Amino acid sequence: MTGAREQAEQLFGEFGRGRPDGVWSAPGRANLIGEHTDYNEGFVLPFAIEHRTYAAVGIRADRTLRVISTLDRQPFALSLDALAATFDGPAGHAVAEGTVPEWAAYPLGVAWAAYPLGVAWAALAATGRPAAEVAGLDIALASDVPVGAGLSSSAAIEGATASALNDLWELGLDGLSIAKIGRTAENEAVGAPTGIMDQVSSTLGRLDAATFLDCRTLETASVDLGFTATGLALLVIDTRVKHAHSTGGYRERRASCEKGAAEMGVPSLRDLSVADLPRAEEALDDVTFRRVRHIVTENQRVLDTVEALRAAGPLAIGELLVASHASMRDDFEISVAELDTAVDAALGAGALGARMTGGGFGGAAIALVEADSLDVVSRAVEEAFAERGFTAPHTFTVTPSEGARRDV
Ligand code: ADP
Ligand code: MG
Repeated sequence: MTGAREQAEQLFGEFGRGRPDGVWSAPGRANLIGEHTDYNEGFVLPFAIEHRTYAAVGIRADRTLRVISTLDRQPFALSLDALAATFDGPAGHAVAEGTVPEWAAYPLGVAWAAYPLGVAWAALAATGRPAAEVAGLDIALASDVPVGAGLSSSAAIEGATASALNDLWELGLDGLSIAKIGRTAENEAVGAPTGIMDQVSSTLGRLDAATFLDCRTLETASVDLGFTATGLALLVIDTRVKHAHSTGGYRERRASCEKGAAEMGVPSLRDLSVADLPRAEEALDDVTFRRVRHIVTENQRVLDTVEALRAAGPLAIGELLVASHASMRDDFEISVAELDTAVDAALGAGALGARMTGGGFGGAAIALVEADSLDVVSRAVEEAFAERGFTAPHTFTVTPSEGARRDV
């Protein structure tokens, strides 16, 4: 089977101009723990996975941007001079109005967010700084990150594109700044109101480590996972139930969190701790309280997980994963029957811990499993799905991997 990197290079051939100038890539991510805490200015602990999106990119002599993807083999072109007119304005309007296909709004939105930085550098060149050409580009994209499975193919496409622009437009950005460009593209150009966790994880990932991110200060710390040394593996169970991230449930949960914070008189739920929960229960209606309780306890679970990993290693975190799932199922109410089935079956077959991951309403669950019982756990999950008449899940392992990089 051809890998995604080769696919991107081959697809680049469809531009009819020979080889790309380089290939960049960025990974998807799995979130070990910390769900829906990002937009509440709380804590998350994601890790980059080995599944990546590759961008094969060639510099053009003119000011045209062309994008093509194995997801939609129709190339889409836009001038650098049309970026602002296309994407400035209300979030997501170019996609909503059909001016730009949704998939193309990810790489072109990245270009829109990065372009002013490139122009600023080019202007500085006149004052003696090294010249930074802001050239048009041909960008061919291919990915082995499952789309819409809660593994953030969106951060992967943003990270791969932004890393390419960072080098080719000589922007000199660090990983966090590249992540911010990705988030701006996703929030403003695509119109999906997500936090910055996925992008940070995709740009800053390290082998066998997770990225602990404080979503308020954007401080990060790499936390060793030690899965390999401990003989553990992380199983992903893609339920194949598609989530609809930018609609319905996600917006509602965000609104409940904002309401809870406002009624508790704090800037965000980050400012509440477990000790504040009895007071919150008295002050809030039942639903809002349970939403708040999920966020507050989940923040504490992330801190506890980091501490457990540092003090005792990954064998010590199973219970925290299980508690996180229960909180999402019962308090935040973002699980679905397929996710609950996956978690219960994995635990029943000996997984150390398991929980749904990602925004919810479908997507994937993760299970922390001893490497030599991977088959047993996978089979138990498949059987449980078959018994309930669910579409067969797709199970595979993910290895904590390196973040965005230049490959060629
Ligand atoms: P997730 O990030 O969980 O996979 P999202 O809905 O956030 O799901 O992002 C998926 C969307 O990102 C796709 O529907 C598509 O528009 C875009 N996308 C992701 N990967 C690619 C790709 N390789 N080529 C083109 N578009 C992609
Ligand atoms: Mg996404």
